[in-house]
Amino acid sequence: MSRVIGIDLGTTNSCVSVIENGQPTVIPNAGGYRTTPSMFAISPDGKRLVGHLAKRQAVTNSRNTVHASKRLIGRRFDAPEVQKAIDLCPYEILRGANDDPRIKIAGKTFTCPEIAGIVLREMKRVAEEYVGEPVSEAVITVPAYFNDAQRQCTKDAGKIAGLEVLRIVNEPTAAAMSYGAGHRGEEKVAIYDLGGGTFDISILDMSDGVIEVLATAGNTFLGGEDFDRMIVAHLLERFHENEGIDLRNDPMALQRLKDAAEKAKCDLSERERTEISLPFIASDDSGPRHLQLEMDRAALEALVHGLVNQTIKTAEACVTDAGLQPGDVERVILVGGQTRMPLIQKAVGQFFGKAPHKGVNPDEVVAVGAALQGEALVSDDKNLLLLDVTPLSLGIATVGGHFAKLIERNTTVPVRKTHTFTTTRDDQTAVKIRVLQGESEAAAENDLLGEFVLSGIRKAAQGEPEVEVCFDIDANGIVSVSATDLATGKEQSITVNATGTLSQDEIERIIEDHELYEIQIKD
Ligand code: ADP
Ligand code: MG
Repeated sequence: MSRVIGIDLGTTNSCVSVIENGQPTVIPNAGGYRTTPSMFAISPDGKRLVGHLAKRQAVTNSRNTVHASKRLIGRRFDAPEVQKAIDLCPYEILRGANDDPRIKIAGKTFTCPEIAGIVLREMKRVAEEYVGEPVSEAVITVPAYFNDAQRQCTKDAGKIAGLEVLRIVNEPTAAAMSYGAGHRGEEKVAIYDLGGGTFDISILDMSDGVIEVLATAGNTFLGGEDFDRMIVAHLLERFHENEGIDLRNDPMALQRLKDAAEKAKCDLSERERTEISLPFIASDDSGPRHLQLEMDRAALEALVHGLVNQTIKTAEACVTDAGLQPGDVERVILVGGQTRMPLIQKAVGQFFGKAPHKGVNPDEVVAVGAALQGEALVSDDKNLLLLDVTPLSLGIATVGGHFAKLIERNTTVPVRKTHTFTTTRDDQTAVKIRVLQGESEAAAENDLLGEFVLSGIRKAAQGEPEVEVCFDIDANGIVSVSATDLATGKEQSITVNATGTLSQDEIERIIEDHELYEIQIKD
């Protein structure tokens, strides 16, 4: 029997784990690292690079190096998050045929699922080298806040990587599984996950191996990269003040600043002061200029405390959503590299009134949970029953641009709800249904998952025909819709074609394309 791997497909870093002799093992890559940068690049001589190889050359080849593309996946090109990414990313982001964002590097355009697929394939390869046999099944994690489109795109990415995705699991749920394996008794747990690009907070109820998510909240556009940006902005300002040179339009300098900022940030998690030194960062008529600065922990904290406060506000909302007070949470687990920052440990500890749990590795806990979930799925282990919830309300647009919620957020999945529709005019034979996900009362402010037309309704007076529409959210958080004309019993199945998802043909074309490249790389 081939083995199931668990993959934490992170915005910044990815991690893969497998169960060995009943114990979850995190698999190191060829360089010995236990996480791999979720980066992809094409080098000047046309080589495709993934992971550390891509990261290492990012400074000199920033325009052809993709990072943090998970922030784009499953979104519409016009989404504010994509527009923000266009401003921030050194690589080119274009509008795709389905209004999805596409990434163009070295003259070639990629869809977001394709980029994620490339990273997943690398993780699959890392695992195969370790177990010494082909791996075909995986559990992949996503931020709890991911909507239907983002989940479907992640599944597509799995297919592109040659993986059968047994389950999409929310990252905090996976973290709880790994903390809770072997745990007995009842406990309310908060998972505070601050990675490179996303923030998630979940409140879970764990009792004797059953994990129920009580509430989730988060921000798919807040993470360690934003901390780095604050530092970069500060460095730019200081350099401008001291040297009179504006580095904002120099991509190479910016990339070096970004690396230095991240390094300083990580240093300051360990010690009180650090040096930032970037020789030859610029030059003008008077010769080369160097950036040389000292930074202490207090200065860093002053720059980023607003970001930390934002996460605490979200945590507060989530606790309220769960019907609890912060003090009711018995265990706080920190996930994500950014939680190594002392200020975050302090702020989270203060909010919940207790010090966070120290027993899990924030970089690995999600992948480990995914591997445990994979094992439970193939061995049909009912002891590790996982009850998850949908993070966003699902509904439809109604007359006047309103949003009618059919499935409230935080409802346990899988879930199925039916709703009967009728016509608004005499002899109307078709109705159009727009399926949305979100919390706003105004339809236009929510994510449009898809729209479909129910046709062939028998002619009748307005309000007489009855069309029953059934909305399903499966255990992966993926939405499907079907409809039945109650008079004729005729069923219509509707595919909700979420933004950026790919057809089977497209997926096959991409796989072929990458197989071609695989041969080229090995030459
Ligand atoms: P993701 O889940 O987005 O892939 P990770 O959990 O790997 O992200 O976290 C990556 C982020 O954690 C980066 O922004 C990185 O700078 C930050 N990070 C890693 N180590 C430290 C540290 N020691 N102190 C502060 N931040 C850190
Ligand atoms: Mg993560």
